Amino acid sequence: LNPNVTAADAAEKQKVWEADRDHFMHPWTDFSTFKETGSMVFTAADGVSIEDADGKRYLDGIGGLWCVNIGYGRKEIAEAVADQICAIPYFSTFGHHTTPPAAKLAAKLADLAPGDLNHVFYGCGGSVANDTAVRLIHFYFNQLGKPTKKQIISRIDGYHGSTYMAMSITGVQFDHIGFDIDEKLVHHISCPNPYRRNPDLSEEEFCRQKVDELEQKILEIGPDNVAAFFAEPIMGAGGVIVPPKGYHQATLEVCRKYDVLYVSDEVVTAFGRLGHMFASQDEFGIVPDIITCAKGLTSGYLPLGATIFSDRIYEVISKPQADGAIFTHGFTYSGHPVSCAAGLKNIEILEREGVCDHVKDVGAYFEQRIRELGELELVGDVRGRKFMMCLENVADKRTKALLDPKAKVGNRIADACQKRGLIVRPLAHMNILSPPLILTREHVDFIAETLRESILEVTETLRAEGFL
Ligand code: PMP
Repeated sequence: LNPNVTAADAAEKQKVWEADRDHFMHPWTDFSTFKETGSMVFTAADGVSIEDADGKRYLDGIGGLWCVNIGYGRKEIAEAVADQICAIPYFSTFGHHTTPPAAKLAAKLADLAPGDLNHVFYGCGGSVANDTAVRLIHFYFNQLGKPTKKQIISRIDGYHGSTYMAMSITGVQFDHIGFDIDEKLVHHISCPNPYRRNPDLSEEEFCRQKVDELEQKILEIGPDNVAAFFAEPIMGAGGVIVPPKGYHQATLEVCRKYDVLYVSDEVVTAFGRLGHMFASQDEFGIVPDIITCAKGLTSGYLPLGATIFSDRIYEVISKPQADGAIFTHGFTYSGHPVSCAAGLKNIEILEREGVCDHVKDVGAYFEQRIRELGELELVGDVRGRKFMMCLENVADKRTKALLDPKAKVGNRIADACQKRGLIVRPLAHMNILSPPLILTREHVDFIAETLRESILEVTETLRAEGFL
């Protein structure tokens, strides 16, 4: 507890709490409970911790929302941002105008990205980076004289964002309830989740089955109609699903065979989370045609997203077009100089401090400590890599049967952790961990032990209430 919190702070907190409850429509929120409970108000953060308006500190086990990679309270970012605001806070980058941070960050991303992914289109986040990828791909095939090549294939449980297009590409079924999606343009194939596979299949056979499914889907739609395949290296919001070994390489081969572009959605996995600046090549051995990223690009200090694409695409879209078309796409804030200054400084910090090496070391220890929780009765599966982990809670480990959703097991575990000073994310019956990448071994031990205690406590209450 922070001893400096005063009565005046408490009154201010009450004002904020009421304003928030009455007027701020939060994203992804169940308003039936929100109206009663309102929000926790967070007022400060430093390192790997955040502090609420009562002065209570928590270890942030979710890195804001998979994004605060370098941790909180970095004065260097504040200074870079302030300097840029004083120099030139904004100017349009439409046409032939630019600013130094936008240009320098694009060159840096081209340098870090694999293969010939040398061209960067900026937006304000991950959803827009994916929408941009779709517009880019459609324009590309139009200009190549292949106007029928428009359809997109993605996976059940893939998450790609919340704009209309990105949500259509998203395959998390719950997210579609109550909404319409663009079914004419998007097709979903099944999720390569090894934990939920038919137990008669080896992991290798399971992989082949999933890869064949992609090929069948392309053939069913017709290769002349399929433009792109979207996939996260590790599915994040769908439950941290690591595909079977060889899956990404084999799906990329299928895409190459039918001239289908491969879009790797690295909104979560880039900028160190798995120990690499980009995971596509360094963790999974593939060079996609397009990488989309956001989040860790600025460590969440300012909004920024990027669509990084290949020379091959650039050559087609940048040449004079027979119909006079140019790539009429972009946003007021494409290449916002202040966000780009934050991005440049963030990457400088990641490199200078050797954060990727730290993740390979302490992230591996984190993975090991979290995997140990798999011995608990409630924990059916522990999956993920390094600082991107998920616990899947079940009623019966042998049959993998889920608990009654009324048990709200994910929420209960998150609440039990919160009581003990740790924030973890509930996701239906699962709990997700994506902490800042600067965690020490002591922090890792605190997270593992707090989770263990919390899960044991929740197991007992679930048993007492007849859910187990
Ligand atoms: N892609 C992935 C893999 C994501 O996890 C997210 C957000 N969690 C997005 C896209 C969308 O990013 P944003 O919320 O910044 O639009």
